[in-house]
Amino acid sequence: MGPFDAVKRTVVEACLDLAGRGYLAGIGGNVALRAGENCFAVTPSAADYYSMKPEDVVILDLTTLAVLEGERSPSVESALHAKLLRARPDLNASVHTHQPVASAMALLNRAIPLEDPEERAALGAQVAITPYGPSGTGMLARAFGRTLRADVNAYLLRNHGVVCGGEDMARAIRNVALVERAAARHLEQNVRARTPKGLAATLRERVLASLQAELRARIPAAHSGRIEVRARRAPNNVMKIEKPGKPAPVAASAVSQWPDTDDVFRRLKALLKLPPRGLRPENRARVMEYFETRCRKSRTISEEAARYIPGGVQHNLAFNYPFPLAINQARGAYLRDVDGNQYIDFLQAGGPTLLGSNYEPVQKKVIELIKDCGPVTGLLHEYEHKLAAEVGRHMTGIEMFRMLGSGTEGVMAAIRLARAYTGKKRVVKIGGGYHGWSDQMVYGMRIPGAGAREATGIPAGCLDYTQECFPNDIAALKRKLRLNQLRGGTAAVIVEPFGPESGTRPIYFEYNRQVRELCDQFGALLIFDEVVTGFRAGLGGAQGYFGVQPDITVFGKCLTGGYPMAGGIGGRREIMMLLAGGISAMGKRAFVGGTLSANPLSCAAGYFSLQAMERTNAAVKAGQAGDRLTRGLKEIIERRGLPYVVYNQGSIVHLQTSAVLLLSMRNPIKVLREAKERKHVMEEMGAAYTAHGLITLAGSRIYTSLADTDAVIDRALDRFDAVFALT
Ligand code: PLP
Repeated sequence: MGPFDAVKRTVVEACLDLAGRGYLAGIGGNVALRAGENCFAVTPSAADYYSMKPEDVVILDLTTLAVLEGERSPSVESALHAKLLRARPDLNASVHTHQPVASAMALLNRAIPLEDPEERAALGAQVAITPYGPSGTGMLARAFGRTLRADVNAYLLRNHGVVCGGEDMARAIRNVALVERAAARHLEQNVRARTPKGLAATLRERVLASLQAELRARIPAAHSGRIEVRARRAPNNVMKIEKPGKPAPVAASAVSQWPDTDDVFRRLKALLKLPPRGLRPENRARVMEYFETRCRKSRTISEEAARYIPGGVQHNLAFNYPFPLAINQARGAYLRDVDGNQYIDFLQAGGPTLLGSNYEPVQKKVIELIKDCGPVTGLLHEYEHKLAAEVGRHMTGIEMFRMLGSGTEGVMAAIRLARAYTGKKRVVKIGGGYHGWSDQMVYGMRIPGAGAREATGIPAGCLDYTQECFPNDIAALKRKLRLNQLRGGTAAVIVEPFGPESGTRPIYFEYNRQVRELCDQFGALLIFDEVVTGFRAGLGGAQGYFGVQPDITVFGKCLTGGYPMAGGIGGRREIMMLLAGGISAMGKRAFVGGTLSANPLSCAAGYFSLQAMERTNAAVKAGQAGDRLTRGLKEIIERRGLPYVVYNQGSIVHLQTSAVLLLSMRNPIKVLREAKERKHVMEEMGAAYTAHGLITLAGSRIYTSLADTDAVIDRALDRFDAVFALT
């Protein structure tokens, strides 16, 4: 152990955190931290933030800048950092970033006035401007030195980027985030003030809304709301950045960039206008031949299954055209079927196995538990509270947690709880969204505006208090809530926070925040259905990503890492306490429960899975795999001149070849005319992927996992390329 080890690790960890938030974009940035009497640690020149090790960090003399320890050359901006640390003995950390929005303000040469009390307290009266100086030169360092003030902790460098100081590293990083938020607001206000008044009001609003969306999409989630200091673990372990208050969870930039929603819809609309383009007729037979000749055992099993199981499968996920495959081995990124064919697994059980299939460290713990007490006793087991605490540790708004059997059960419980708490009945969902199969939620499913179309076997009365609203239409939601106000009010608005059908219809970045505001205005609870996004959006869920706090959160899938009985709800104590507990529960209580809810097996699986996700940074790595796959697919699609649309929200990759999932009841004739054929094209493409060793979700969605290394993704891209050659 050397005397500077801890300081160096903090620098490494800070770089990872900043890079993960997108603040070290472009030509990078650098980080310095006071290391003791008249010396400081600084990142090396040309640092790769993701592979940097503590031993790469250099220790310099604060006065002379002589190297005291380290093999690498110190950052070219060391003199700049030294200026700050010398002039401001009250500050210990100095961070230079190229965060996108504030950098734009720097290029425009605009200081940012600060009005927000939180920003003023942390940064001073304004984010000052340092005059031009070429990067890495004494000229820049001297200009910076002249600008430094005792009461300002953030500076725009006229030529590039930002420098923030902080009492410690966590505060310096927080200051960086505050600057970005202030810059985004300032830019928006400027554009608002300058947008010509003659422009029609609606057009003007659209221009401004699209700027707003652009800004929000480009800056990490922390900017949109309360800014918390978060720590990300360094790969070689474990030093936490010091931060005020309650220990914060690992940073979760699992979605590196929110898709440009307008652009996605523009491309999807264009795809919908074209006749669907699937496999060329001469290639169809080749794909089908794979199933005929290479999947004989699967075919026999699927025929047998069809004799006893309605539709031949127990869940739609397993229904793959032309028949379901029977799988007998799942490990990491791969599946093997009973005929011995191996596949890259982009289904990942429909989402739950963020760690990859059959993740061994969790499997071992589950086996130990089963040996000790079996899967269930009906009595309390310590993993119940351990899992609940683990969820609450990552999602600060969750004070209490109730385990249930599935996402569907979670949604049922959340709605009942919202009704019990508010005393109101109506629930608004977003059209096209899926919230499980309970009576009240089989409404407006898949196709926005579909209403009760799929509600076979559900008496109309069950749906009397369910309403739907078109996605992204915030004005329509407001109208609905206003109307409901005249009829007894709205108990809850329930959303999939990435957009209906796991983001198949992506929302605008600001949408969840706007829904939150409407809920507050109309006294409705906001339910986030995080069955898919918890914990794919990061351990803080979509709520952490967007910085929007729901009243009730629904969990499923990843909650137990792929083990059975994945469901639960969480929220504030005052709301959650309305759930029935114990046979003596009397008075105003919402009754929920189940014999196998909270069985030790599911709770232990969940507890160890969440810990493993944190330890391995699984959501971020799976998100990076999603990014790589999306980039590669885009390249193939463009190179081959195909009309297909691909985009991702971290580890959820959407690949639309026929856009059937984008049909809408705003055009019912098109739905009637085209849904069947478009669906078939999607299924056939799914079959072609399978025949090329790729399992996807219904041929249109791909879940990546921790197991998807670059090599796996590159192999997959070759296979997708081979499939697209057949269209
Ligand atoms: N909510 C969402 C957003 C889902 O995607 C799903 C399932 O896919 C559910 C709820 C239902 O969860 P479960 O299948 O565990 O009942």
